[in-house]
Amino acid sequence: MNKDQYDIVIIGAGASGLMCASLLNQTSLKICVIDCNSKIGEKIKVSGGAKCNITNKYLESSKFLAEQEFIKSCFKEFDNNDLLKFLASNNLHPHLKEKIVKGTYFCNSSSEVISLFKKLTNKIHFRLNTKVEDVNYCENNFVIKTNNYNIKSKKLIVASGGKSFPNLGASDIGFKIAEDFGHIIARLDPALVGFTVQKDQFWFKELSGLSLPVKIKVDNKEVVGDMLFTHKGCSGPAILTTSLYWQKGKFYIDFLPNKNTYLPKRFKRATKELDIDIRKYEMAPAGNYGYTKAEVTKGGVSTDEINVNTMESKLQKDLYFIGEVLDVTGELGGYNFQWAFTSGYICAKYIL
Ligand SMILES: Cc1cc2nc3c(=O)[nH]c(=O)nc-3n(C[C@H](O)[C@H](O)[C@H](O)COP(=O)(O)OP(=O)(O)OC[C@H]3O[C@@H](n4cnc5c(N)ncnc54)[C@H](O)[C@@H]3O)c2cc1C
Repeated sequence: MNKDQYDIVIIGAGASGLMCASLLNQTSLKICVIDCNSKIGEKIKVSGGAKCNITNKYLESSKFLAEQEFIKSCFKEFDNNDLLKFLASNNLHPHLKEKIVKGTYFCNSSSEVISLFKKLTNKIHFRLNTKVEDVNYCENNFVIKTNNYNIKSKKLIVASGGKSFPNLGASDIGFKIAEDFGHIIARLDPALVGFTVQKDQFWFKELSGLSLPVKIKVDNKEVVGDMLFTHKGCSGPAILTTSLYWQKGKFYIDFLPNKNTYLPKRFKRATKELDIDIRKYEMAPAGNYGYTKAEVTKGGVSTDEINVNTMESKLQKDLYFIGEVLDVTGELGGYNFQWAFTSGYICAKYIL
């Protein structure tokens, strides 16, 4: 076999690609993982304040913006308990740490997750510092054009994530490949991101740095958690999750979510001066901080055209999509890694 011919190529050495590669490691198939970064797992490394919030105790489909039946079926195959068992069998024991978001499991350090995947992918050929530019299908092979050379493969797994954090390697290549093979892409937007504000909220600036527990009504969802006032707008866990569900228009903030809520003096002063309704404050953001600050990209390859049991495209044989590139986006709290690992697991299990 030619050195640039593989049985399976995975584009992306992130959470979903690494999970998939680690399970395929045991086969005799010739497998390659391509990534434009010089190291694997760059997002895992920075996640959860470098402690990787890897999953959530309260995994349920309602925590995701996604086709509900699709993800319910996926989590039946591999859920948070399966992930924790998989990690435990490899001597990794994340612990519950619920200070910011309920049910979150953190590792001691993100680097232990990366080391684990390095060990589990010891037979896989990694081509790092290699950027995928285009993919064609020709004579039963995917021809993957990179900035260095062309690679051929019988099967192609697209695990290239979303557009968030381009400085960590993110690109729109997965969406481009999907579109080239006829897939529908649900509208893409930055999510789990802070909001910039309009004139009416310029008072937020005065409170910059202050964090308060709030309850937010957005669309038909209720979000609870802390909100942080910032120089340019607002952020913090409750706002990040609100950004997942906010399309456009208004949402409502309750600054007194329970009777024991302590309201600092400067907050009381500012809201009194402006005669603000602190139980149902309505606001319409100007926009958000964009892909450079957003933890994830919502939207993506429509799951209507993906086989739920295999992650294979229904439009092109031997083409698979896993992870954030799909139209599945979770709330803050470890849900997005869980999705990446679940979809990577299902794909590898089918191929095996
Ligand atoms: C700062 C930050 C913190 C986060 N913290 C958490 C957390 O604690 N818990 C949680 O659940 N989620 C967290 N997330 C979200 C989570 O990291 C992602 O949802 C998850 O990594 C998606 O996995 P993936 O495999 O689909 O994509 P990614 O992990 O993004 O991997 C995709 C890979 O593809 C590569 N790639 C992209 N384009 C190309 C190309 N053209 N050529 C070659 N390679 C390419 C990229 O370099 C990247 O390595 C965080 C995200 C960010 C940005």
